[in-house]
Amino acid sequence: MDLSNYLLTGQPYYHPVGNEVALFEAAYAARLPMMLKGPTGCGKTRFIEHMAWRLGKPLITVACHEDMTASDLVGRFLLDAEGTVWHDGPLTLSVRHGAICYLDEIVEARQDTTVVIHPLTDDRRILPLEKKNELVRAHPDFQIVISYNPGYQSVIKDLKESTKQRFAALDFSYPEASIETEIVAHESGIAHEDAAVLVRIAGRTRNLKGHGLDEGASTRMLVQAGRLMSRSIPLREACEVAIVLPISDDPDMRRALTETIAACV
Ligand code: ADP
Repeated sequence: MDLSNYLLTGQPYYHPVGNEVALFEAAYAARLPMMLKGPTGCGKTRFIEHMAWRLGKPLITVACHEDMTASDLVGRFLLDAEGTVWHDGPLTLSVRHGAICYLDEIVEARQDTTVVIHPLTDDRRILPLEKKNELVRAHPDFQIVISYNPGYQSVIKDLKESTKQRFAALDFSYPEASIETEIVAHESGIAHEDAAVLVRIAGRTRNLKGHGLDEGASTRMLVQAGRLMSRSIPLREACEVAIVLPISDDPDMRRALTETIAACV
């Protein structure tokens, strides 16, 4: 089986915020199961893409959701002209052929789905395919990486303690202002001064977390505002479209955000 489709061809741009690159390289060398923790849009996916490229390993990404079943991960028998044929799911493909398997937003998946990864996260490194009556031993290059947003935590939607404790973790948060400015300018093509204003605005919105906002503006939102600006949309309008409207449905909060933006310009 050829996983070359899953190899990243160009270097994904990633600006480190600490020593996460060296830590991840060591974790990969030890094949530790890794958890990337942090709010949405702060660079977790970009980081794993960058690391897969650095390590020269294929990356298979699965966006987890609540209707996902264990079969969606491991595979199923499907009917075709020759009869029933087994099709490996993305997890099994990674395990068999040595990819990094990235399960994005793992808490979205039901707990009975997440337990299929348990035997892969200890020394056994095996994946039992019950329906096929097969035990797949992990390829030496295989690693499992999950992302997890602690902000969404609720009693029903949290990782089982027994799942959490199998992973080593890297904490991601929004980069410090000078780095975030660099990222926004690079990703959107706007001038540093303009990117700095967006980062200042984001800082204000992040202070509103828990005071009417579930989450402040993410780096992703700033990049999107920047991309509108690079197509000649004025800063305030770009922020309205890329930040204020998506982040809140409450008219008072929207007004407060618009005023905050006006004060930062
Ligand atoms: P997450 O997976 O945490 O939800 P992403 O990795 O998709 O977030 O990040 C959203 C966007 O923010 C990326 O597409 C990229 O443009 C930008 N970004 C965030 N952090 C970084 C970083 N450290 N280096 C480069 N780009 C970043």
